[in-house]
Amino acid sequence: MKVLVINCGSSSLKYQLINMENEEVLAKGICERIGIEGSFLKHQPGEGDKVTVEKPMPTHMEAIQSVIEALIDANHGVIKSMSEINAVGHRVVHAGEKFAYSVILNDEVMNALNECIELAPLHNPPNIIGIEACQKLMPGVPMVGVFDTAFHQTMPKEAYIYALPYEMYEKYKIRRYGFHGTSHKYVSEKTAEFLGKPLSELKLITCHLGNGASVAAVNHGESIDTSMGFTPLEGLVMGTRAGDMDPAIVTFLQDKENLTSEEVNNLLNKKSGVLGISKISSDFRDIEEAAGKGNENAQLALDVYNYRVKKYIGAYMAAMNGADAIIFTAGLGENSDVVRETICKDMDFLGIKIDTQKNKVRGKLTDISAEGSKVKVLIVPTNEELMIARDTKTLISK
Ligand code: ADP
Repeated sequence: MKVLVINCGSSSLKYQLINMENEEVLAKGICERIGIEGSFLKHQPGEGDKVTVEKPMPTHMEAIQSVIEALIDANHGVIKSMSEINAVGHRVVHAGEKFAYSVILNDEVMNALNECIELAPLHNPPNIIGIEACQKLMPGVPMVGVFDTAFHQTMPKEAYIYALPYEMYEKYKIRRYGFHGTSHKYVSEKTAEFLGKPLSELKLITCHLGNGASVAAVNHGESIDTSMGFTPLEGLVMGTRAGDMDPAIVTFLQDKENLTSEEVNNLLNKKSGVLGISKISSDFRDIEEAAGKGNENAQLALDVYNYRVKKYIGAYMAAMNGADAIIFTAGLGENSDVVRETICKDMDFLGIKIDTQKNKVRGKLTDISAEGSKVKVLIVPTNEELMIARDTKTLISK
């Protein structure tokens, strides 16, 4: 069985074709600048060389058409015809309270996802457009939706209710939902496998530190709390997002800077985070480099970032009465030894101690805990695409 995994953003579309017999990635790639001048597709067949195909992609429809063409191309293709694609798994950001698991996409599910647009105006529309384009271009091929929010639906009410008038929850479903669920779930399962213990016996703190970032408390296999909330803006400091702050700042800024709600939203989502503090970049590679050269704002951005992660780890250890392991994953979690070391520094009171030599590793499943560390500290590379493909296979095989 071959599963095509699709992850649609507003102007980009990432894909992977996975052979589910051996979970081999047959090809992967990305379409960028969809709807903008200069769109192109970067395609990588298996171990082969990357190719870049420039072509107009006014909508996601042309992007998906380009993906199919690349997959069946005589030179860099990996299948003979589209009929070899047995199913498509779609990443969908927000499923509200409707789905705690992945589901086969039908009209009823699509209606439910459309209802969730209000909750995720930036994320759900491109996801839905991608699904609809696939349905048109690949009629009859079963499609599955895998939701970022699903894994966190096990959170207890005390973790997800905000202390607002309760009618705000009843009327608008304002609550903490949490995101990156597919990644938190994947690394939790991988950790259990690595430690040789059932997930149901483990207390884990999973730190997904990418451009977007969140921490989750995974108690006996269930997410019981996570740092992102009603939207992916809450919690950790991120590349360009502010994360936790006093909500009074919003109206203060609106008054002082004469901002509309959309402008203040833009400031918090796109101009804040480490970009906002460092004034340099949202990419940690740039910031680490600048900090190394003595740039104070860059160093401050790193300090604020790391401190926030440390606080969440402490909070989740309190929430679970301890932890068996702390897991670092995603772009930064997998690659930055400095970030991991700084976060775990001076945590020996909580039984957390890393081995700085073992920590000097990138993107490899590794136990970086020091000898005698009560809590294991692991790097576990995430693989959201594989998780989506596995769910897709399971559902369509039923
Ligand atoms: P997303 O999927 O949220 O876009 P990723 O998980 O790919 O993000 O993480 C991207 C981020 O990871 C980059 O912005 C960069 O800050 C960080 N990153 C990647 N590689 C390194 C590295 N070698 N050192 C430090 N940071 C890195």
